[in-house]
Amino acid sequence: MATSANRQSDSSSRLIILGAGFAGLQLAKKLRNSGYHITLIDQYNYHQFQPLFYQVATARLEPSSISFPLRKIFQRSKNVRVRNTKVREVNTAEQKVVTEDGVFQYDVLVIATGCTTNFFGNKNLEQYAYPMKSTTEAITLRNRILLNFEDALNAAPDALEEIMNIVVVGGGPTGVELSGSLAELKKNILPRDYPDMDFSKLNVYLLEGSPNTLSAMSAASQHTSQTYLENMGVQVWVNAVVQDYDGHTVVLKDGRQIKTRNLIWAAGITGNVPAGISKEVLARGNRIKVDQCNRVVGMQNVYAIGDIAYMETPEWPNGHPQMANVAGKQATHLATNLQAIKNGNKTKQFRYKLPGTMATVGKRKAVVDLPFISFQGVVAWLFWMFLHLMLILNAKNKLIIFINWAISYFTNDTTLRLILMPTRKQVEMAKQHHSIEE
Ligand SMILES: Cc1cc2nc3c(=O)[nH]c(=O)nc-3n(C[C@H](O)[C@H](O)[C@H](O)COP(=O)(O)OP(=O)(O)OC[C@H]3O[C@@H](n4cnc5c(N)ncnc54)[C@H](O)[C@@H]3O)c2cc1C
Repeated sequence: MATSANRQSDSSSRLIILGAGFAGLQLAKKLRNSGYHITLIDQYNYHQFQPLFYQVATARLEPSSISFPLRKIFQRSKNVRVRNTKVREVNTAEQKVVTEDGVFQYDVLVIATGCTTNFFGNKNLEQYAYPMKSTTEAITLRNRILLNFEDALNAAPDALEEIMNIVVVGGGPTGVELSGSLAELKKNILPRDYPDMDFSKLNVYLLEGSPNTLSAMSAASQHTSQTYLENMGVQVWVNAVVQDYDGHTVVLKDGRQIKTRNLIWAAGITGNVPAGISKEVLARGNRIKVDQCNRVVGMQNVYAIGDIAYMETPEWPNGHPQMANVAGKQATHLATNLQAIKNGNKTKQFRYKLPGTMATVGKRKAVVDLPFISFQGVVAWLFWMFLHLMLILNAKNKLIIFINWAISYFTNDTTLRLILMPTRKQVEMAKQHHSIEE
């Protein structure tokens, strides 16, 4: 293994950030042109805007609209180096990070590796269900959905049922947004693309294990979003806990079964903890326990931010919600603290107030909970769109997304339904570069 360690000067200033998601990217941006020599390591060479994965999966947006090449972002930042490699291990005793492309030495380490899909140890689900936690998984899901209907054209009658059932598991914002989008695909787009097929036979199910979808939102938002979905034809099953899935039939704990070869798993996440981090600092959800300055408990120069960080505060006794806004705010706060440390000043504790939560179900249908008001419908939908456009990284992508949304608003259609499958050479190339997903 090459030891391509950071060859930069000024020890005490070598800062390694693991992960270029909402937290890691923001931290690197806030510290660009600071006294730190930053190495930003991610398994992908781009930042992913996860809240719009479902629009890639349902062929509404191109992946490039929600992915941002890291090297371009830091073209003009002399103190930020990007490394596109997978982290294998962290050795805190020797202050080094072992990656697939070499070993990097740090003075300060920030872990911002986020989360991955949690199948709760069920190997069948892991093998057969489709997760949506990366851009590549969203593209895989898009291919799956589009291929499904190509297959339906030639399917034998007894195979048709499992093709025509799409089951989304997990009634959080991701599951709600995805099943709403699938219902719109069924109503507006598929009948035009496949005029010979009978889409009354296509069923979209949303399964939620608890008594309500969007359980973290207000009762009004829960009720309205569920009504929206049901009016759009989605079969919402609450108290529906998935027990197993063999690629053909999903079996619930209460014995109910649905035949499907399209099971989308949006029912849980677990922390991407790098090997080498002691189990003693792990909390519920496989998150790393940190103090109120995001310092990993028991360590001096190792921090964790974003989804992976578990910080108990009087306001958040069970840790902060795993949301992009929290990740960004923790990163900004840590940047200020790291600057303070460098300048010999005191650090400050992180305080967080949730600005609100929201989810969109479909055209002119969304729900928004703000601290003092909750609203639904067209205004909520416009609010959701405006906010997401504001959060998109650059002006060009904002414009592309806006144009795509405007076209599909007026035409109820998109032009993005390409089935792009990898070639054997692409798979080999990815394997050589280690960046293939298992
Ligand atoms: C489908 C979906 C929809 C969502 N919608 C919303 C929403 O509407 N609003 C909201 O606030 N939040 C939403 N979230 C949650 C939000 O995306 C996360 O809270 C946020 O991404 C957390 O930021 P992070 O930087 O901690 O982790 P991430 O953004 O997940 O970034 C982690 C980074 O670490 C990298 N990484 C991980 N392991 C390794 C490794 N071993 N080696 C190298 N690199 C590694 C990953 O490639 C990734 O780039 C959604 C999430 C999903 C999946």
